[in-house]
Amino acid sequence: VDKRSIAVDLGGTHVRTAVSDESLHLAGRTDAPTLLELGPEGIIDQIVRQARQSVSESGVSWSQVQTLVVGAPGPLDATSGVMLNPPNLPGWENVPLRLSLEAELEIPVKVANDANAAALGEFYFGAGRGNRNLVYITVSTGIGGGVVVEGRLVEGASGTAGEIGHTTIDRYGPVCKCGNKGCLEVIASGTAIARRFREGLAAGERSIVTEWVDGDLATSADVARGAQQGDRFALALFTDAAEAVGFGVVNCIHLFNPDVIAIGGGVTKAGRLLFEPIQRVVEQYALAVPRNVVRIVQAELEEDVGLIGAAALSWTHSRVAW
Ligand SMILES: [Zn+2]
Repeated sequence: VDKRSIAVDLGGTHVRTAVSDESLHLAGRTDAPTLLELGPEGIIDQIVRQARQSVSESGVSWSQVQTLVVGAPGPLDATSGVMLNPPNLPGWENVPLRLSLEAELEIPVKVANDANAAALGEFYFGAGRGNRNLVYITVSTGIGGGVVVEGRLVEGASGTAGEIGHTTIDRYGPVCKCGNKGCLEVIASGTAIARRFREGLAAGERSIVTEWVDGDLATSADVARGAQQGDRFALALFTDAAEAVGFGVVNCIHLFNPDVIAIGGGVTKAGRLLFEPIQRVVEQYALAVPRNVVRIVQAELEEDVGLIGAAALSWTHSRVAW
């Protein structure tokens, strides 16, 4: 038979599903706002409904469907398919997503970290096309990552590889939600930029950003806009965050010697404001031999990245979770 799999991108704002063949062509796409108010059971029902809709709209039969792969926000245990306590899905704590979906749909299910899935999507169809070694970093509400080495996604012994957001940038830094101090995520994510902006104002900093938004409500996009308009505090803060990402990038260059580092997520909308400090740190701190080969670029796939990544994972033989 002509095999198919179901790809699911479960996010804090959208649930997307599609049916994929082994060439990663997607059919029967669905896209709906995540029904956060219904909690885990309601959202699992939503996934099941959209998955069934994808199968019927793509015109394949259920006997062709081999697997379902969900890219989901961490932290999660990819081996058991249990969602631990994802900040982007309030009320989810130790939810056995894999078992619940398998019980409903009666096909094998794999749950993967969304950033790992996205890395594979960028590798096949985005910024990594034609390369063998890629690091993907998403700078968004949080900071996540995924690593492809010699054409294979690095999942690690328990499926948690690539957690660049929780690598230590400043061991005396602020406390991260993971419990450690000075993780990249607590210094440079969109949430962190907004928090640091509020803290600065409370400590007496002044900013033109407060001319258009209450300082307590300012987002990282507001801080970026202030920086672009020459606001001293906003520019210093955003540059510091971008440099922290730059140190994360240097660490990845030294660890993996990648062909390409693709950076995605909402904070990349700041463009040069983010990428120039990263480039500067890389030029100053990265070893010359791996630095001379690596391209540091904007990720290309935007909102499709999770779905394509989940589809790619369906056809990747994995030691984990089957
Ligand atoms: Zn952390």
